[in-house]
Amino acid sequence: MKELAKQLLITHASLVTLDESGQIIPDGALLIRDGLIVEVGPTQKLIGRHPTEQILDAGGQLVMPGLINAHMHLYSTLARGMALKDEPPANFVQILERLWWRLDRALDEDDIFYSALVALISCIRHGTTTIIDHHASPGNIPGSLDLIADAMEQTGLRGCLCYEVSDRGGPQEAEAGIGENCRFIRRCQAEKNPMLAASFGLHASFTLSDKTLKQCVKLAGDLGVGFHLHVAEDAADVRDAQQKYGKSTVQRLADIDVLGPQTLAIHCVHVDDDDMEILRKMGANVVHNPQSNCNNGVGVAPVLEMMGQGVRVGLGSDGFTANMFDEIRTANILHKLSHRDPRVGYAEVQQMAFQNNREIAALFFNSSLGIIRPGAAADLIFLDYFPPTPLRSETFLGHLLFGIGGARVQTTIVNGKILMRDGQLLCLNEEDVAARARELAGKLWERF
Ligand SMILES: [Zn+2]
Repeated sequence: MKELAKQLLITHASLVTLDESGQIIPDGALLIRDGLIVEVGPTQKLIGRHPTEQILDAGGQLVMPGLINAHMHLYSTLARGMALKDEPPANFVQILERLWWRLDRALDEDDIFYSALVALISCIRHGTTTIIDHHASPGNIPGSLDLIADAMEQTGLRGCLCYEVSDRGGPQEAEAGIGENCRFIRRCQAEKNPMLAASFGLHASFTLSDKTLKQCVKLAGDLGVGFHLHVAEDAADVRDAQQKYGKSTVQRLADIDVLGPQTLAIHCVHVDDDDMEILRKMGANVVHNPQSNCNNGVGVAPVLEMMGQGVRVGLGSDGFTANMFDEIRTANILHKLSHRDPRVGYAEVQQMAFQNNREIAALFFNSSLGIIRPGAAADLIFLDYFPPTPLRSETFLGHLLFGIGGARVQTTIVNGKILMRDGQLLCLNEEDVAARARELAGKLWERF
């Protein structure tokens, strides 16, 4: 029931292209055909060239590329408001033990599907059109990624999925996780669906033995994919690597060949100069999740330093939110505060959220994402933002941080399909989905 626009002319947009020159077209238009942007320019010019085209008038709204979330946990959705059964966790490992490792184990098939569906609806509402997800459901491993893929298809968003392999549940679970990654990677490679991709998921160094890691490296190499794993999120991960292997987490992962240009190393909060040099040398991609790091109290990732050393750092939400504008704003103020320097962060935040996330997405998807230019995917969002001060490429960041991020996303288009129009979801009944999710959450909380 998604509104399929084989060909559609979007007119009268305040068009933020996010292209290399940062071009902004005040009364801009773009032509979409078969899921791609084919022409971009001033409204009058494009109307003149395509006088009979079906038109979607943006009415002066701000139109920009949909945002990319480079690290997400769709499965975390039903934890919202849940009471824990133990004392409140006092550190990161306790957060895993008392919350996430109990929750993910209790997830059944319906929970996995509806967790994803609810979170994906929120992505549509907040203008996130591509997500790179990291899934765990040790009680239901085989086929779990297909359930999420079904939710992705129902909502119409673009996603790259993986299952987190871990030794925390014993060898059988580790094997099942490995199997699920391999199966789903092969499925994606066979289907060649431009909306769906896969990587090889690993939990983190401190829950993975050398034996399991080596097995995964062999399989991922055979399949031609990289890894998606948490790296040095908390000091406990580094301590574990030092105690067991006499080296840092990053060094251990590098020595086993986990890090490489297709690998996403999530967080990298506790990394030193040597680790940064290894990440740079191996070409690994780091993903920063500022709100999650704040919420878990794990520390501030040395993002500016990593980027300064030439490491590609992207931006994700770690399941904390579906709203990437919030992550952008938090990243900006977090690094100013942690450096006690109001001058830093601006350029890096923009680079992480746009250019670097675009490059990270390009590891998994063939179409150009996160940019408005001919040939790029028609993944677009319309915001009810009418700039009260001049909006130009050199003022865009100020608008993004202090205005655009708080504006409402009214229309979301992915792959040329309109998923939400004027605040109305076209693909699903949001109230029905929420009602079913509440029902499932009640039962999940009892099993938790
Ligand atoms: Zn995570």
